[in-house]
Amino acid sequence: MNMADKVILVTGGSRGIGAATALLAGQRGYAVAVNYVTNRAAADAVVAQIQAAGGRAIAVGGDVAREEDVLQLFATVDGELGRVTALVNNAGVLDHQSRLEDMSAERINRVLIANVTGSLLCAREAVKRMSTRHGGQGGAIVNLSSMAAKLGGPGEYVDYAASKGAIDAFTIGLAKEVAAEGIRVNAVRPGLIYTDIHASGGEAGRVDRLKDAVPMKRGGSAAEVANAILWLLSEEASYATGTFIDVSGGR
Ligand code: NAP
Repeated sequence: MNMADKVILVTGGSRGIGAATALLAGQRGYAVAVNYVTNRAAADAVVAQIQAAGGRAIAVGGDVAREEDVLQLFATVDGELGRVTALVNNAGVLDHQSRLEDMSAERINRVLIANVTGSLLCAREAVKRMSTRHGGQGGAIVNLSSMAAKLGGPGEYVDYAASKGAIDAFTIGLAKEVAAEGIRVNAVRPGLIYTDIHASGGEAGRVDRLKDAVPMKRGGSAAEVANAILWLLSEEASYATGTFIDVSGGR
């Protein structure tokens, strides 16, 4: 496949790991759709950086938790960049650190719908466009799981950890479902990465508090996660599907 034909959608591409992934994808020759939910200025800044480096990119708003937004998001990408050949299911949320006893049903549902339903809906739309079964030319999907899927997030966010466990199961299942249709589906499990997500959990300094427990004794950067994502999307990973890369400093 010619690189000029490569179109990537990065959900939640406006900040953190998604922004680093969008920037790297732009450098690698993808036309990049940078999705955001509220922070248009951040998405525009990522797009401007890609364009300044000679790449092609658009910012597209939309809440992955809402089916109508997901349909509109893919329709916009179809019209402006062409059919997606790569999807990074990166958009994800967590809420304040809390024990399960103190979590409301509203909070649990919000986290599960954004992280799980949102990723499933985006993957569904990508498969419709990539699968040889539907006249597509194949493609690759990378889901953002988390080391929380293995560690469980006790005392902080077991709801979030459960959502990432679901991402792991969905990665394995969808990979097998579409393997013969030209689509590879893999996931990355980041560990403690310096992004804004920890502030949304109520502790902006969380990575620094916990980094000594990481075998490498440091937090990771969004760019280090993006490198693994772009490798899984690339032809270098052509025989890898239904698999995981832990980017966690050994944690
Ligand atoms: P972040 O810095 O908080 O950025 C979140 C991004 O997702 C933003 O671009 C945000 O858009 C977007 N977003 C949030 N909800 C959305 C929705 N409903 N629809 C569309 N976009 C939405 O997060 P991050 O740390 O980069 O995390 C990215 C992914 O990696 C997540 O899936 C997270 O669970 C996973 N992860 C992160 C870490 C870590 O330590 N950072 C560790 C393990 C896994 P706006 O800018 O518009 O708000």
